[in-house]
Amino acid sequence: MSQFVDLILPLPLDNRFTYAVTNEEAEFIQEGMRLAVPFGKNRIYTGIVAKIHGTPPEVYEAKPIHQIIDETPLLTYKQLKFWSWIASYYLCTEGDVMRAALPGAFLLESESIVKLSSEVKIEDQMLTDDEYLVTEALQRQSSMKIQEIEQLLDRKKVLPIINKLVAKNLVELNQEIYEQFKPKEVRYVSLNPIYEAEAEMHGLLDELSKAPKQREALLSFFSLTAKSQKALKLKELSNESGVSPAVIKGLIQKKILIEEYRSTDRIQFNSEISNHEINFSSEQLRAYTEITENFAENNVCLLHGVTSSGKTEIYIKLIEAALKKGKQSLYLLPEIALTTQLIKRLQNYFGDKVLVYHSKYSVNERVEIYKHVKENKDKGKIVIGARSCIFLPFQDLGLIVVDEEHEATFKQFDPAPRYHARDAAVVLANIFEAKIILGSATPSIESYFNAVHSKYALVELHSRFGNVLMPEVEVVDIKTAHKKKKMTGHFSKRMIEEIKSSLKENEQVILFQNRRGFSPILECNTCGHSPQCPNCDVSLTYHSHNNQLRCHYCGYHIAMQHQCIACGSNEITTKGFGTEQVETELKALFPKHSIGRMDQDTTRGKYAYEKIIEAFENHETDILIGTQMLSKGLDFRKVSLVGIMNADNLLNFPDFRAHERSFQLMLQVAGRSGRTKKRGKVLIQSYNPHHQIIQQVSTGAYKEMYEEQLEDRYQYQYPPFYRLVRLTLKSRDFSKTNEAAEWLARALENVFDRYVLGPEFPPVARIRNEYYKNILIKIPQKQNLGKTKAIITRILKSYQAIGAFRSVRVIVNVDPQ
Ligand code: ADP
Ligand code: ZN
Ligand code: ZN
Repeated sequence: MSQFVDLILPLPLDNRFTYAVTNEEAEFIQEGMRLAVPFGKNRIYTGIVAKIHGTPPEVYEAKPIHQIIDETPLLTYKQLKFWSWIASYYLCTEGDVMRAALPGAFLLESESIVKLSSEVKIEDQMLTDDEYLVTEALQRQSSMKIQEIEQLLDRKKVLPIINKLVAKNLVELNQEIYEQFKPKEVRYVSLNPIYEAEAEMHGLLDELSKAPKQREALLSFFSLTAKSQKALKLKELSNESGVSPAVIKGLIQKKILIEEYRSTDRIQFNSEISNHEINFSSEQLRAYTEITENFAENNVCLLHGVTSSGKTEIYIKLIEAALKKGKQSLYLLPEIALTTQLIKRLQNYFGDKVLVYHSKYSVNERVEIYKHVKENKDKGKIVIGARSCIFLPFQDLGLIVVDEEHEATFKQFDPAPRYHARDAAVVLANIFEAKIILGSATPSIESYFNAVHSKYALVELHSRFGNVLMPEVEVVDIKTAHKKKKMTGHFSKRMIEEIKSSLKENEQVILFQNRRGFSPILECNTCGHSPQCPNCDVSLTYHSHNNQLRCHYCGYHIAMQHQCIACGSNEITTKGFGTEQVETELKALFPKHSIGRMDQDTTRGKYAYEKIIEAFENHETDILIGTQMLSKGLDFRKVSLVGIMNADNLLNFPDFRAHERSFQLMLQVAGRSGRTKKRGKVLIQSYNPHHQIIQQVSTGAYKEMYEEQLEDRYQYQYPPFYRLVRLTLKSRDFSKTNEAAEWLARALENVFDRYVLGPEFPPVARIRNEYYKNILIKIPQKQNLGKTKAIITRILKSYQAIGAFRSVRVIVNVDPQ
């Protein structure tokens, strides 16, 4: 009698696929192991065993497998359970989840590209004949597809052999897709070797007698490096010698000191643990005690604490407690790139127990971390990272921290699985019976609602750590200011005054300008025409630094136009303004001060983000202009003023969450101000100074905002009262898209009636020459979620059976953000 295995394949198949195995194989195979299997005509894939049983498939004959790849299961039972929850809740396939969840190196298939590792020497290794054959071929050809390797070896053996070579670090996979990521680089300075000889050094010091500050800096450099060190952190030099970074820059420009960036080792942690004790304030102690008491009854706790109230310290203590019990902890963040400061804080406390998991890490690095977590090693007991961390193979998870739980980036947008990492983390915690803490200064309406209705426990922190006052918020009416001609460009008189006074006190300033739909566009004064992208339904935006008009959706660009393409008029103006324009105006207003800018354009390079932050931290820049990026958990010590250039654009965004989001964003940005003793100031420029959200931001009235928004959500039938499923249809054919959307909407209406909205074009209805149309399904609280989703799936199946609509894809988004 033969046996069968159901496999999850990394393909968009609705079902698991069944293969036949011999009794001998069945003895050995366990759930969670990988098998190499044939699929389709000539393909081999890696599949995961989800079930072993004795029932043959009904509609096809089960093929035999090629090989068993693993000796022990790669996936735990809990992971498989979690995957299946994600697939069923977010209406995607387990194959979609598999692709998102496993590092590419575990998913070898015919198309995978293999090349020799640059790190390990082949000669030093013991190789089997087959392994030798592959490495030898790879020495002749720099890279090969698995398909090609199949011609060298028995096809059935290929995947297991490549896997062994990957494990030995001898080959790398698909490497070119991944940018090698290295965390924060630190700036070092060293003496130019031409000055190393005694005589040269004396000559140099004489020469510098006319530049006493630089001389002083250099002498400090010598004394600090006296004990054999050759290079010194620029920051250390500046701190120890008391000379400003600008003076050191002078020495670098003169080529006396040489500057270099050094990266800290990627998954190593070298520096010592400083192991400073955390002494809680009484507020923190109360909150901590409440949290732990709540955990006795409820696994989920929402920590609502104002900005700078010391939430991070509370998380650290909770992690420490989990660690004492030998448990693993997961620290989830909205975006890993923006959190070098936080990672440093955690590593200072826990040393190399902290591992950072980054989607930009190379395949091999990710495999390494995966193994650490799977083996429940000491190193890696605490994992910190963005949303995809929820897929790591935890063995004994005790605690999950979801920091900035309100952030929309926790939701995966594309491709499937379109999961919300915060919500999925709650499920994950349940699977492990672990505790989970959601933290924010501005909780999402959904989480706060859950807390108010006792689904989650709620703990609050009302004051900042060290009794630092919340910043003082002032709203500037720019409508009136414009009328009275009290504006210089986009700056009100009040804004300029406040910036001046901060700079005079040698304090720093942050200016926030939201980007969303708000970049400068060109408009003809005569006929009103704005240049459009030929591929997308949007206006091109003006970029002054390269004098281009660009599309933000597809990257299409042309040179700046000085004549209207439609009517030929020369009278062209730019409308709206972005960060770049704020920078230009600011430079004219404060020519003596250095200005940094942080947005998508300036953070594109490898370490661009870190450099901008570090320059600001070291006070090499006085004013930092930026977009949303600035709102995320940065802790600067000398910022006394935060200016929000224009609040209205945020508020007017056509989305039911626009008001909630505006409140969160403004309050978070405001929270960057005055984090030390002196009270900070926030200026909000607006055409609608009396808008209720702006008023609520200025008084920090979270609850009032919550109550008001909740009222709207109730009235207009949105979450948390109704769940949403959005179907997006897309294709290159306009009328096909319309027809398909109509068909689907009618079919859904037959069942869900008035709870189906649309089809409707989104604000940008064409991107890269594809047309988009949305259908929204609202699910009342009382309606059974599982059944509803089963019906949606059934209707989608019938839809897919219609030949005429084959070219129109449907994207399913459960709980769209
Ligand atoms: P939040 O995460 O709530 O915005 P943080 O945890 O960043 O606040 O704390 C704000 C500042 O207060 C940080 O600089 C932090 O180091 C400091 N801080 C918080 N709690 C303590 C404590 N118990 N002892 C010393 N410093 C603390
Ligand atoms: Zn014109
Ligand atoms: Zn475009």
